[in-house]
Parts: sequence; C-alpha cells; structure tokens
Amino acid sequence: MNGAHATTCPYCGVGCGVLASVGADGAVGVTGDPGHGSNLGRLCVKGAALGETLDLQGRLLQPTLREPGGALRRVGWGEALDRVAGGFRRILDNHGPDAVAFYVSGQLLTEDYYVVNKLAKGYIGTANIDTNSRLCMSSAVAGHKRAFGEDVVPGCYEDLEQAELIVLAGSNTAWCHPVVFQRMVKAKEQGAGPRIVVIDPRFTATCESADLHLPIRPGTDVWLFNGLLSFLFRHGAIDAAFVDAHTQGFEQALAAAEAEAGDPAEVARRCGVQLADLLTFYRWFARHGKTVSLFSQGVNQSSSGTDKVNSLINCHLLTGRIGKPGMGPFSITGQPNAMGGREVGGLANMLAAHMDLHEAVHRDIVQSFWDSPRIASRPGLKAVELFDAVLEGRVKALWIMGTNPVVSLPDADRAKRALAACELVVCSDIVEATDTNAFAHVLLPALGWGEKNGTVTSSERRISRQRPFLPAPGEARADWRIVRDVAQRLGFGRGFQYDGPHDIFIEHARLTAFRNHAPRGDGLPAVPRQLDLGALAALSRQDYDALAPVQWPVTADGRGTPRLFADGRFAHGDGRARFVATPGRAPAHAPDAEYPLVLNTGRVRDQWHTMTRTGKSPRLAGHISEPYLDMHPHDALRFGVREGELARVRSRWGAMVARVRHGGGILAGHVFVPIHWNDQYASDARVGGLVNPVVDPVSGEPEFKHTPVRVEPFPVRWYGFAFGRHPLPTARPHHWTLIRGEHFLRYEIAHRDRLADCGTWARAWLGAGDPDADWLEYEDRSTGVYRAAYVVEDRIEACIFLSARQDLPARQWLAGLFAQDRLDESDRASLLAGEPPGAGADTGPIVCSCFGVGRNTLCAAIREQGLETPAQITASLRAGGNCGSCVPELRQLITEAHAEAGA
Ligand code: SF4
Repeated sequence: MNGAHATTCPYCGVGCGVLASVGADGAVGVTGDPGHGSNLGRLCVKGAALGETLDLQGRLLQPTLREPGGALRRVGWGEALDRVAGGFRRILDNHGPDAVAFYVSGQLLTEDYYVVNKLAKGYIGTANIDTNSRLCMSSAVAGHKRAFGEDVVPGCYEDLEQAELIVLAGSNTAWCHPVVFQRMVKAKEQGAGPRIVVIDPRFTATCESADLHLPIRPGTDVWLFNGLLSFLFRHGAIDAAFVDAHTQGFEQALAAAEAEAGDPAEVARRCGVQLADLLTFYRWFARHGKTVSLFSQGVNQSSSGTDKVNSLINCHLLTGRIGKPGMGPFSITGQPNAMGGREVGGLANMLAAHMDLHEAVHRDIVQSFWDSPRIASRPGLKAVELFDAVLEGRVKALWIMGTNPVVSLPDADRAKRALAACELVVCSDIVEATDTNAFAHVLLPALGWGEKNGTVTSSERRISRQRPFLPAPGEARADWRIVRDVAQRLGFGRGFQYDGPHDIFIEHARLTAFRNHAPRGDGLPAVPRQLDLGALAALSRQDYDALAPVQWPVTADGRGTPRLFADGRFAHGDGRARFVATPGRAPAHAPDAEYPLVLNTGRVRDQWHTMTRTGKSPRLAGHISEPYLDMHPHDALRFGVREGELARVRSRWGAMVARVRHGGGILAGHVFVPIHWNDQYASDARVGGLVNPVVDPVSGEPEFKHTPVRVEPFPVRWYGFAFGRHPLPTARPHHWTLIRGEHFLRYEIAHRDRLADCGTWARAWLGAGDPDADWLEYEDRSTGVYRAAYVVEDRIEACIFLSARQDLPARQWLAGLFAQDRLDESDRASLLAGEPPGAGADTGPIVCSCFGVGRNTLCAAIREQGLETPAQITASLRAGGNCGSCVPELRQLITEAHAEAGA
C-alpha cells in the first residue's frame, strides 16, 4: 500500500474525514480519519464502500458532441470548449445575459463553485446560476438570513454530545447522517447523554433510539413550534434578558403564535398527535437548557419551509439557547458541499462571500474585488423557475454540472421537456449515461472523488480538503479548469488566470475578508460577515495542500470557531437577531377524492442521490435493492394492492411503478417513495416525476414532502428475476430493476403479457445461444413456474426464475453461485429445485452491509441465542459492529422477535 491520503467523504453534509490508500493492485482501501473532528474515525457504510465505486465502468472519459441526428461523436477538448464558448457567445450576443444559465451541484468543490459563480455574475452578468442545493436546504439558508442576518449554522457536532435534549425535526438522521447519529446515540448510551425527540410523520429507523416520537401530520411543524413558543412563554421558560438585549420582533412572533397555537389541545389536534405526548415534548424543551434542535429536509422541503425554520429558531431565541455548548438550532445539510456553495454565492439570490445581490453596496464590493466588467444586478432564477424559463425559451443555453435534474427536480418530466426544447445543453459529469445527459449537446468529462483537488465545507462550517490520490482518467478535467477555459474563450481571460485550486481558494479567502470589518475611511463601507477566511488568504500552496480541517470563521492565528453568537451579537446591522412571525400554512395541495393519499419522499440508508456512484457497489445494493412504495396495510386494502406486488403511484404531474411494502412506520393516508431510482436502474421509478412543483415563496425550495397521489394496481402476468454476468436488454420485460452484484447483474422483472413459450423467451433474453452449453430448465405450466440456468463449461452464465405469483426463491444463495468457478451436481439440482441446498443457506436480505449479515441469519440468532441487545448481536455475528448504520434495524428485529415470542 502507498501512504494513506487524508481526504473527505463526497456524500452527505456530515463531511467525514477519510483515509484512502491505493494498493499495489489498484484497489482503494478506505477508513475513517481518527484525526478529523467531524467523524473522529467513524464512517457510515456509504463512506466505507467508497473504494467499490471507483472503477471506470460507465465513466465519461472524453469530451463528446451530439450530432444533429443524435449520434455521439468523441472530440478533443479544443473542439468541445469551442462549441460551448461559441454557443454561449452567440446566445449572449443575440439575447443578452439572462438567456444563459448554469445549474450546478452541492457535489462541486468550493473552488469549482467559486469560478463558475464568478463567471456568471461578474463576467456574463447574469445571476442565473442555481444549484441542486436549492432542493435540500435553501429554506434553512433563508431562515438563517431572516433570523441571524447571515446564513450561519451557530453550533457544531460536539453540541449533540453535550446536549440534554436533542430535537430531531424532519430528519431521519440514522439513515441520512449516520455518523452524526452514532455520535449522539453513543453519548446517550454513556449515561448522561441526551434525551431524543423525533418529529417525523414516519416511524423511521431514527425513532428506534428516540425517547419520544411525535408523528405529526406533514406540514404542521409551524403549529407545533408556534405552540412551543406560546407554551414556553406562558410557563416562564424564557431568557428575558437575552430577548431584551439581543433580539427584535418577539411581540409580533408571540402574537402570531398565540393567535393560532396558544391552546396545546388545539395544536395536538391540528398536528395529529396525542396531547400527552405534545405536552411531554413541550415540558422537556422547557426544562432542558441544553437543547439542540437539528433539522433537515423534512422541515426544509415544504411550501412553508422557511417559516418552519424560523418557528423553530424563535424557540431558541426565546430561551437564549444559542451560541453556547450543547444548544442551538442546527441545520444539517444533505450534500457534501452545500455549505461551501453557499460561501461562494452559488445560489441565484446570493453573491459571493455571503454578500447579497439586492444590496448595491455589496455588489460594488464584489465587483471592485473582482475588477469585473459587470455584476449581476438582480436575483436570478431559482431551480424550478429556471427550468420553467428553459421550457419557455427565455433561457436558451444551460450548463449543468454534476447533477441530474431530470431525476431530482419536482415535476421532473417538465424538466425533460425543457431540456429537449433547449438550444444548447452542456453537461459536465463523471458518468456518461444519466437521465439528464441524454439531453446534452455537449458532454464534458469531469474529475470524480479521489481525482479532484479542493475543499468542501460540512454542516458544522468545517472546511476540509478533498485530495486527489488517483490519476485523472481518460481526458477528464477539473470543473474549475473547464470553466476557466470557457471563460477565456469568451474573452474574460484576465479574470480567470488560475493555475490550480490553490489560486482560487486564496482569492475566495481574500474576498471573505474584503471589507469585512470597520470602514477604512476610503469611501467604501464595510459589510461585516461571520464568514471570514482572511487568516487563510496567505496560505502557500504547500500549506493549502496540508490544510487541516478548520471551522470558519478562522481566527488570526489560524484557529477555527466551533460556535458563533456566544456574545449575543448577530449579523443584522443592529447586532440583534430577529424573531419572525410565522403563521401556519397548510401544504399547497390538499388530498382530494381523486388523489387521496399524501406522498412523502426521502433517502434510503445505503444509496445516495441518483445512484451514479452508490449504485455501483454490490455491498450497498444488498440493503434495499428495489424502488418501493411504503404504505399502510389499510390503504393497501383500500386501493386493491398487496405487499410484494407492483403498484402504480399517480399524481397530477406524473406516475411511476414500485413494489408495495408495509414498513410499519407510516400513517394511514400517507405513502413514502425513495428518491434514488431512475431510468438507468429501473423501468419507471423516477419519483421526481410525481412531485408537485410548488415552492416556498421565500426560499424557492420545492415541496417534496407533500404531493397528493393515488395508488393503483399494476397487474402483471408473471413476476421473475434473472442473474447474468453481462447486461441484459431491458426493453424486453415490461418492468425491471437493475441491481449490481459482485460477479453479476441482477434484474427483478415483471411482464404484463402471457408468455406462450417461457423457454424460447428466456433463452432469447438471456442470450443463451451456445448450442454446446447446458440449458437447465424446469417448468410447471399448471402453477406458472419456470426456471432455467445457462451453464457454459460448468460455470453459470445466467439464470432466470419466473412465476405467476410472488412465490419466487430467495436471491441471496444464487449470488454465491456466480462466485464459483464451476457448479457441482448439488448446485445444479438446487437450481432446478429453486431452493438453496441446505437449511441456513439463504441468509435473507442484507441488514448489516459492512459484514454482509442477512435478516434470516439475524432472526435465527436472536431467536435461538436469546439475544436481547444490538451489542449481543454484534458479539455473536459482528453485525452492527463497524459503522453502526444498521443498529436501529437490529433493535427493530429484536423488538419484532420478542413480539412474536410473546404472541
Ligand atoms: S455520514 Fe457517511 S455519507 Fe455522510 S459524510 Fe460520513 S461517511 Fe460520508
């Protein structure tokens, strides 16, 4: 092994430090960095599996142009960059700066973000640059700016360990931010740790560790927190001195809260929770000074997301719980560099370095620092309105970087139509085939994790280096370099003389300190901001390469700042925080007779975004393999669908198909669908196509958590699955999902038509054409069961199992056959019999991805060994003993086993 490279995980906003080592065989080993303050050596299973996602299969490795007929043509960088710059120049000259736009990503490094933002706002002169971070945390940004005067997360992860009470609002932390969750659970298990309250319509894995779960109706958070504000005031649980000295607007906020949420019984009724539970929460909040309220997409992704954020912050301002150890509101972001993007102004309504587009003084400061020919003078188009503008022809050139809006935007089919109608679509990406890249006129190969060089900022304001430890593959280039080269071709060379990320970071750091302090008597005022990296502006290239993780603002001697606002001084001009009056508002679209259910969307534990990376890892595919529709059994009965079968979910905006399951954690009247699956991994599972495009009026964040839908049966003649060593043509079955295994690809399939001849169909689909190979086949026409295996020189090449019912064999044992060089007689017999060769051979769906421990194995051990705690399971089977992401599910299995035993 070469020496370990300290870098940062590219997935969620926890921002874990990673040590990556490249072995002599090129394999990449990954461990948690014990010296990194965000994770202290821990990684969740996604981070731990990073090494499995780095192969070059499917990578975009060369610039590519789409010819008028649709064919793709590989070209050199010169031609590709000329095509991009020429297209932008033509549209700029003919239609002006607002006819072009950029849609970028929280996956970009801060340096990439900085350069593209500078190009758009300072040189092209448009603020039409928005990011997929708009979809996950722009309500938190807007709430911070309203309350604090600046987009600042006041606390740090240590506060979660020091708190007496943690309120998790709209956050399935156990699955979405597992390392932070493990930190709080560990503190809890050590005795003096926090009580945990989960506010979530669903009973998620996070609730397994909660002391109290409030399953509020979606969209009622503002009433809940207004009720809390009123309760705290009425019970004297306030810090009057703090309110008097450091805030404004308390009376108006309290009046709004009292007007509609002064009566806890009414709040409980409106929120759909038990009054006793509501009062328990309110009393705990009143009693525990050290309270952290951690919130995420469940709060943000709403047509009243910004008000939800402010209603929560109001309660912290009233109690003075901010800026001190163990307390504060805490926005945890979904993406690895959502925070870094915000620092450099990567949203359509921001300028760089936490300055505002709508303030002339701020614009002057940024323009003078950039010495740029112009500066955007008004906010640009936010994500949803940006794609509307593309569809309407107002935006004619769109450059998409590192994101997949055809999957992730609401009303995603509209995004498809927009891209299809757009004059020039440029996509910078690491993957060649994505749902979005299908619409690109120019494809530009970007560097991926392990190749890129720069910085990211985590949810606790910690700047960490992403360091390269792999060579750039093919012709791939850094995003900042691609943007620089286009900027130079557009005639803006003077402002883009960067040789590397170090140059860019230094310029960014200087800008954060530029006119950030008292006026200097030179005619231009200062704009004080907490974001100040001035102490890093003199870093040499070597210092930058060696930069240790540090939380901004950075002090003159280079130290970070874990907490802000300890002195009660906020970023508004008068130094006071603002209470915001937040009248409750129902979600934009109510369920009705035609669409009577409420769709909620979110993540699963082991996948990330649109699966372009995590979809490659067999380990991560083992936990939840297929798109699913979680619904209450009563609703399933009502809508004529059954667990395990397929159903169509339909809204006014679109439809999709998924497998029905009863996870047990969802209220009647609600359904949940994960966000990850797309046309590369399933025939019809883009949930974004269903989501209503309503946005929060302040932040522009879409309402992903509340879309009225209906559920219909998706009748099929037969279900099945196939394993193959090579890709199979997905046009054949009517429904399919692709799952990558260690030595195979697995397809879960279903077909709507009767198959006259299963054998012929299966042979053709599997490509089993070798006459000298073995074709093992079994068919029972009376029950509609068919199975076959294609064996070449004693090695299994493919197999298929079909049934008219959902009684298909387990999959796990079949995967093992593809790891073997040859099949023996018992393997062949098992294939024909459709069952594993002995008891215990089927371990069941994977629960612990780190050690590959399946549900069946776990249930048997719990039952037979009388295991009662996750720690006992770990001692027996190792499960749960590494990253800990599966511990909540282990708890759930123990509970279920005890319930069964007691029944
Ligand atoms: S919690 Fe997991 S996904 Fe998030 S940064 Fe850490 S290792 Fe990566």
